[in-house]
Amino acid sequence: MSNIQGKVVIITGASSGIGEATAKELASRGTKLVLAARREERLKTLQLEIQNNGGEAIYKVTDVTSHEQMEELAELALGTFGKVDVLVNNAGLMPNSFLHTKKIGDWNNIIDVNIKGVLYGIGAVLPSMRARKEGHIINISSVAGHSVGAGSAVYAATKFAVRAISEGLRKEEYANNIRTTIISPGMVTTELTESITDGNFKPVVEKMYEGAIDADSIARSIAFAIEQPSDVAINEMIIRPTSQER
Ligand code: NDP
Repeated sequence: MSNIQGKVVIITGASSGIGEATAKELASRGTKLVLAARREERLKTLQLEIQNNGGEAIYKVTDVTSHEQMEELAELALGTFGKVDVLVNNAGLMPNSFLHTKKIGDWNNIIDVNIKGVLYGIGAVLPSMRARKEGHIINISSVAGHSVGAGSAVYAATKFAVRAISEGLRKEEYANNIRTTIISPGMVTTELTESITDGNFKPVVEKMYEGAIDADSIARSIAFAIEQPSDVAINEMIIRPTSQER
């Protein structure tokens, strides 16, 4: 028996890249989707595509850096579908730069989205999951959550934080039958490199990304984690392009 059909899944950062690919993959497996991001046109188009293929999806324009908006997102899911089975905390930025360039605006944004956004998502869904004694929180970290490169100090710090938060969450909530999964992708072809504001750094990263894999690869791993029987928790996965060394 599949343990994925009919599940209610919230995906943040669903308007492009890994979030969008995950929405399509999960829709094809019969989940009910709650799509969130800031770009409404993208969400609307994705919702229509899913519906045209016989799937079920709603969306809400949401900025993950707003605790209130994340609460409203969870309330929409509960109000519409009666439960939240899975939260995919996927929204993220990677405005890499060297520390000496002091891109303080980028530092603040990346911490707000990549760390606080994940915490606000967890905070928004935990009460109903704890009450039901069932749920699954999937946090997207990165290979940069395992090793730090020059130019990615702040991004890596946020992705190490995502892994720390996920492990703490696992220890706090396993007894409530809430599963946790950390997904750490390597290089994946998405819009992520567009968030780099350092004109010297961007071409270097874009060159590296020529060996990137499709977002579908990550979407399939997320589906794999969800579809396991409820007593099986896939706690962590690293998915790199075969050709990626670090
Ligand atoms: P994209 O840039 O394609 O997608 C990022 C998503 O995050 C977009 O949907 C964007 O939507 C959303 N987002 C950004 N800021 C906010 C915000 N404040 N509120 C709500 N949504 C927001 O990149 P990816 O698909 O690659 O990124 C998804 C995740 O995967 C990130 O956490 C990233 O760090 C991680 N990752 C990606 C890797 C890669 O190589 N691509 C490697 C390792 C990890 P909108 O702008 O509409 O709000």
